[in-house]
Amino acid sequence: MEKDYEKDKIKIKEEDGRVTYYSPTTKTHIIEYKGEFQPDIDLGRTADWIIRKFRGNITIIEIVSYGLALIFYLLYTVILLLGVSFIETENGWIALAGIIMALFCVDLSFKFSKIRSYYQDTKCGKCGKYLACKESELPDIKELSMPEAYSITETRYWKCKFCDYETIRRYERHPTKKGKKNKYKMKCGKCELNEAREYKKPDIVEIGDTIYTTRYYKCEHCGYEETRTESEQIRYSFDYV
Ligand SMILES: [Zn+2]
Ligand SMILES: [Zn+2]
Repeated sequence: MEKDYEKDKIKIKEEDGRVTYYSPTTKTHIIEYKGEFQPDIDLGRTADWIIRKFRGNITIIEIVSYGLALIFYLLYTVILLLGVSFIETENGWIALAGIIMALFCVDLSFKFSKIRSYYQDTKCGKCGKYLACKESELPDIKELSMPEAYSITETRYWKCKFCDYETIRRYERHPTKKGKKNKYKMKCGKCELNEAREYKKPDIVEIGDTIYTTRYYKCEHCGYEETRTESEQIRYSFDYV
């Protein structure tokens, strides 16, 4: 079924392969562009070997490694509750080993979850062979910015090297949310007066270690509309250690 924002959308901008549409009744921006192929999995041959060994049962291993991580996190919490001074005693190595094992388990479970999605992506839906599919064309990315919701959907095209069967898969990988509008006005990009006000909640997305915020402005003097994107590096603070 056709979505409401598809009915009255008009193309408002086309730049660097990015096409922006706007639906006035639903106050929705739709941005479409081509993405990049998925990067090769960093575990390479190990991943291939694990997939051949375990086939679909990777979830079990993932659960086990999450379970292990949980156990060691509990241990870690107990150590903190008992007091850090425990680490300085002759039994300190137990605490240290617990922490290292916890980190190792967490890392392992992340790797397994990567392998699992690699397994799902490369398995052919027709001939059933695994490690069979490759992306056959660049993915289509669609950003949907509604007044109260924001999402980024990737549509990827997979093709089996054995039977040529094509599968389309959709992913929503990056955490997205709506932010809060700023109260103060900004300088307008056209008339240059300080009359540009945000007319819609900003879109926020986290990609890797960067947070991107897109704000929508409309000038109260000349009516000029513009969007501005800011990026901010996520800093992990270890000050409390
Ligand atoms: Zn196939
Ligand atoms: Zn203006």
